[in-house]
Amino acid sequence: AHLDRVAAVDERVGAFLHVDGERALQQAAGVDAKVAAGEAVGPLAGVPLALKDVLTYVGAPTTCGSKVLEGWLPPYNATITQRLLDADVVILGKTNMDEFAMGSSTENSAYGPTRNPWDLDRIPGGSGGGSAAALAAYEAPLAIGTDTGGSIRQPASVTGTVGIKPTYGASSRYGLVALASSLDQPGPCARNVEDAALLHQVIAGHDPRDSTSIDAPVPPVVEAARSGDVKGMKIGVITDLRGEGYAPGVMQRFDEAVTKLADLGAEIVEVSCPHFQYGLAAYYLIMPSECSSNLAKFDAMRFGLRVGDDGAFSAEQVMAATREAGFGAEVKRRIIIGTYALSAGYYDAYYGQAQKVRTMIIRDFEAAFEQVDALVSPATPVTAFKIGEKIEDPLAMYANDLCTIPSSLAGNASASFPIGLAPEDGLPVGLQVMAPPLADDRLYRVGAALE
Ligand code: GLN
Repeated sequence: AHLDRVAAVDERVGAFLHVDGERALQQAAGVDAKVAAGEAVGPLAGVPLALKDVLTYVGAPTTCGSKVLEGWLPPYNATITQRLLDADVVILGKTNMDEFAMGSSTENSAYGPTRNPWDLDRIPGGSGGGSAAALAAYEAPLAIGTDTGGSIRQPASVTGTVGIKPTYGASSRYGLVALASSLDQPGPCARNVEDAALLHQVIAGHDPRDSTSIDAPVPPVVEAARSGDVKGMKIGVITDLRGEGYAPGVMQRFDEAVTKLADLGAEIVEVSCPHFQYGLAAYYLIMPSECSSNLAKFDAMRFGLRVGDDGAFSAEQVMAATREAGFGAEVKRRIIIGTYALSAGYYDAYYGQAQKVRTMIIRDFEAAFEQVDALVSPATPVTAFKIGEKIEDPLAMYANDLCTIPSSLAGNASASFPIGLAPEDGLPVGLQVMAPPLADDRLYRVGAALE
């Protein structure tokens, strides 16, 4: 049924870069055979899933939305992919994304944009717009996203779906093509809170192959998603994440959701996090710095594309020609910013300063979590904007990540949950919940209360 749905709508939505229906049907048949033989099946047996094209899956291309990786076939499965297969999930295919996960609209994909199923002239968010759109268009009930500065939460917010960024280190980065290693975190995407929790349970947990993986039990996310009990919970509304630039309809739905949490017995307090205002500036130095280092491996020798390799060029010229042809404008912009910020003369002024700001944001969170169990804010200041509206203006595009970036810099658990439609445009609004590291279950408790 899901493959039929993909065939019917994906030409218009553009959620998938690669669909392997035959293999998906084989996986489904494998589950049927196990059931028929009376064998045990995995916890998500037979459930179709859409995988963001930044995670490796043997037998399928991994492009990261870039021409530089066109045709590259990975030799191993990401830990997440392997855990999905072990859980008997049926993988439908790989979803579209901004090139190397840089963007907030999926317009930076080298393979064309994904469209928001709520309004095909609008963006589905980014970088994980493909995964979110596949859910919103009912092409898949589950999807995997990755979040570096909001790429799970912002697409969830603008497509009316659920997106969870687990605590940094809670889900494995092994086999995830790195954008910014200190920020990247894969997580579950779904249409409702319980589905997300069931997927979370399958993908999270310690992985010895990821050196930053946390060796701790997965918090009771499914229990929390089924309970939704927020009675007595202390929830902080971040006063710094509202005001100018936030759409009235977004704030209306947000305030209603906070009132609902109070009605359900949560204690609501206002909390100030004074350094959040510097988050965006710090992130857009740290993230490009790490990505300029991580993307150096795309050197025309090791992976994918090679241009100018006709014997007439030096290795350096082949590398330059390949990068010129293979990387899009946003990727080049960030490599240049990151290389500059890390260079000897500017390291202290830019990268060093940004790391200090990161510490101040972590302290803001620590102080806040001494007072409250969880924090809430809008997930994005505005609803889905029009395709083409911000693509020429990188700063306007970056401003979409205002609310999601603090949790990325701090590495704590964070999520976006749908809280209705903005009255002015009828488009989905998301509420962000943030919880201390390893308290991912609190996200689900609040999300379920709002459902
Ligand atoms: N929009 C942010 C950026 O462009 C977030 C990206 C992400 O989380 N991968 O960097």
